[in-house]
Amino acid sequence: MAHFLERLYPYVPVSIQNLGISIFGLAWKRERLGGKFQEYVRGFRERDRWSPEEMQEYVQTELSRVLRHAFEHVPYYRKKWQRAGINKNDLEGITPKRLSHLPVTPKTDLRSDPDSFVAQKTKGQEKLLRYQSSGSTGTPITAVCTADDHRRFIAAREVRSLGWAGTSIHAPRSMIGGRLVVPRGISRPPFERYNWAERQVYFSAYHISPENVRFYVDALNHYQPIVLTGYAHSHFSLARMMAEQGLTLDYEPVAAVLCSEKLTRAMKTVIKRALRTRAYEEYGAVENCVLATECECGRLHVSPDFGIMEIVDDNGHPVPPGVEGRILCTSLLNEAQPLIRYEIGDVGAWSNESCPCGRNHLPVLKEVVGRMEDVIVGPDGRQTVRFHWVFIDLPGVMEGQIIQEAVDRFTINLVTSGDSSKEVDAMIRRRFMERIGNVSVHIQRVPEIPRTDRGKFRGVISKVPLPRTHTECHTTSNTGLS
Ligand SMILES: [Zn+2]
Repeated sequence: MAHFLERLYPYVPVSIQNLGISIFGLAWKRERLGGKFQEYVRGFRERDRWSPEEMQEYVQTELSRVLRHAFEHVPYYRKKWQRAGINKNDLEGITPKRLSHLPVTPKTDLRSDPDSFVAQKTKGQEKLLRYQSSGSTGTPITAVCTADDHRRFIAAREVRSLGWAGTSIHAPRSMIGGRLVVPRGISRPPFERYNWAERQVYFSAYHISPENVRFYVDALNHYQPIVLTGYAHSHFSLARMMAEQGLTLDYEPVAAVLCSEKLTRAMKTVIKRALRTRAYEEYGAVENCVLATECECGRLHVSPDFGIMEIVDDNGHPVPPGVEGRILCTSLLNEAQPLIRYEIGDVGAWSNESCPCGRNHLPVLKEVVGRMEDVIVGPDGRQTVRFHWVFIDLPGVMEGQIIQEAVDRFTINLVTSGDSSKEVDAMIRRRFMERIGNVSVHIQRVPEIPRTDRGKFRGVISKVPLPRTHTECHTTSNTGLS
């Protein structure tokens, strides 16, 4: 039935589309914010004020429970651990610090056989919800959870993400995300649809362009969402195009809580100016095995009661603070599909400073540097993953994308307004070569940079295979409230 309605959606008028979205919104709200949702919210709030020792004890108990559950009910882990000679008693001795005694779970394993990760206990007993990552360069990841698991994920975000930003899931909100609310092929406004059940205005991530910016601004001013959510890069693009046209919002939203792409300081500044609100970074994943959220002091705290994060070197051993490594996640909230030491595909580093907010029990990430799929290896073997600085503070530059055609040959796609100059090209070329070395750089102007099939912006595309296992495609950090 749902599939039939989805097929019908593009052919009905906007008012009927809004009605359809609202009916689904009502069902979504009843299911996800019902049941034990409030109880879970209270749990996260209480743990927000705990000491490091209290949190450590809690996380240890939860970890032991999850490991037992995985051993007893999840075919993938039972088989994998037995093969590695790990028995149930060995699992009792595993602490968050001793997780490296267990093997890493590569993303390819989840991708190739997601059902082997589903707990037999939940199968057949409860309805399983399935979510897919975008799979922009391969087979998508299928993440599975129960409705109750989902309530816990949202409760965590209600407290640690929206709550820290001074707002709530119950506030009127907007979303820029990958759902095709505006059917493909439609190029005329409106570029949003309205879900009255949740007072949520949902914008298309696919239609943000200099010609369409004013329609987005008009809709935001009309609905006045209190909190802006969704793709970080889409908000940044919108804000940058607004600034180019001298536009700002008529009102001040309480916050923007943004995910999916790295949110840099420069992006925050542009968003603050045009959208008149502070942008908070949120780091999560469609697999719901990790959550890191920004506090009032601007630091990114990991919630270990959501999922344990490890940052490790190529041998799977922890790296010290300040050193970049691969992020591994162990989910504590997903009963249906527990993931243990799951290699999510991102590179990050711990901070060696504590945060003035005082939440010493929620470890601080220096940053999530980037995704492994965004790594570029230069001719001298240097690996670089950060490129946002190439395009910062350049007049007329609205978007840039780097494509590695060969080890020493790059194309840079630029979306610019009319007044972008040759000096801008020279600056981009110089900045790029400073980091990558002496390579050939071809800069071309394009009218737009195509999005992935989930509407996401890809800042880097490399056509050169990486020497190690880093060709994994991490396609989403979308824990969106959609
Ligand atoms: Zn803090």
